[in-house]
Amino acid sequence: MQIKKHTVAAIQYTLKDDSGEVIDSSSGGEPLTYVHGVGGLIPGLEAELDGKRAGDALKVRIAPAQGYGERDENLVARVPRSQMPSGAPLEVGMQFQARGPEGAQVVTLVRLEDDAVWLDANHPLAGMHLNFEVSVVSVRAAAPEEIEHGHVHGEGGHHH
Ligand code: ZN
Repeated sequence: MQIKKHTVAAIQYTLKDDSGEVIDSSSGGEPLTYVHGVGGLIPGLEAELDGKRAGDALKVRIAPAQGYGERDENLVARVPRSQMPSGAPLEVGMQFQARGPEGAQVVTLVRLEDDAVWLDANHPLAGMHLNFEVSVVSVRAAAPEEIEHGHVHGEGGHHH
């Protein structure tokens, strides 16, 4: 069976940045399963996987626009320390859940000042070229419920 809209594909993947550093990988763990064609993966990777079959392997480089988007410097903001949650000491690289105009989003602390911090709401992989090595483990038709929910149920997927 080929990967097409409303199939469930299981893939093993390794993601590297342009310097060759591994950013993320499924190796050593369960493959990633997703419902194809419902926005479960970044657009560039879905496009490359379309039509592939179990056993196929591919190596692709995806531009930011087809990945996590370009960086938007307007999403970097200076926030007084008094507005930050108290508790753990603040460090560069920490991530927080914040309420944005489009709901919950993750922001990263990118700079510390004496009385303020700088928070970046860009996706950590925004603006980056993504180098994927992917192998397709399995392909099956999605169940109607999975299509409706936009995620995989059962083994290796989401339970509820
Ligand atoms: Zn569900």
